Amino acid sequence: MLVQYHIEMCRRALSDVFSPAALETIIAANIAQDNLRGQIGHPEFHFDNSAFAAGNLYLEQQRQESLTALSQQDADAARRAFGRLTHAAQDFYAHSNYIALWLARYPAEGRPAPPQVDPLDPEILQHPELRSGRVYPLEALTYLPALRPLVRRLLPPDAHIHMNLDYPARGPLFPYALEAAVKRTRHELHRTLELLPAEQHLVFLGA
Ligand SMILES: [Zn+2]
Repeated sequence: MLVQYHIEMCRRALSDVFSPAALETIIAANIAQDNLRGQIGHPEFHFDNSAFAAGNLYLEQQRQESLTALSQQDADAARRAFGRLTHAAQDFYAHSNYIALWLARYPAEGRPAPPQVDPLDPEILQHPELRSGRVYPLEALTYLPALRPLVRRLLPPDAHIHMNLDYPARGPLFPYALEAAVKRTRHELHRTLELLPAEQHLVFLGA
């Protein structure tokens, strides 16, 4: 998703539990995943290329890094790892067809509203048709807006440029991706806190 939505989702999901300074560290690490070094050769940072196993492994590695850092009283390193975790978790809904598969269960006129989306539906997570967009090198040319229409025509339907829900103009599924990602961020916080000894909660949250 675009940076502004990663920031918005982190604030919505986390601002009532983390101190303002802790939240800023998390957000900075989250959005840094989209810098050039994080964009090239790291499908697991963004759940691109249908790299679901690698993406899920990355989430757990970042969680472990967070827990290890807290055991060493390094709250900032823990928050940076958690920020990286939240970026991947949020991108899953923007880069895969999870939302489309989830909505396909309902008739068009009976669609639940976006806040009702279930971000962890086990059937959809295991769905044989679950895919995420492939990032082709050619897509780098879309940084030049004039070339976007050409790149769109040249790239196949499985490309990130055709599948993403990165910003509102991508259509009516975008609000579902946003809501799912906020809920998932909250879920990842709870999962991390469950694994963290109670006396380290306040160190992590900075509250
Ligand atoms: Zn990303």
